[in-house]
Amino acid sequence: MLAASTLLILATLAGYALLCALRPFAVCRKCSGTGLRNHRKAMKLCRRCRGTRYRLRTGRRLTNHARRIHADGARTHHTNSKEALPWQ
Ligand SMILES: [Zn+2]
Repeated sequence: MLAASTLLILATLAGYALLCALRPFAVCRKCSGTGLRNHRKAMKLCRRCRGTRYRLRTGRRLTNHARRIHADGARTHHTNSKEALPWQ
């Protein structure tokens, strides 16, 4: 019973990760994809999506953040051991 529920959770997470990889953008929930907000008579751009009509999925936002942290902490260039610099 525990294994079945664990598999179900893992399958759901894998499906969401695949969705975030294939379609990172989803329709804005605030304006329902119109890009506008109805402020009395004047139509203005949606504040949440700034008129783009789309939002970045939460999973994709987390992935981008993790990638940025990894890239900032990782070495930017690979040094060859034969071409070691004098101070190494
Ligand atoms: Zn919007």
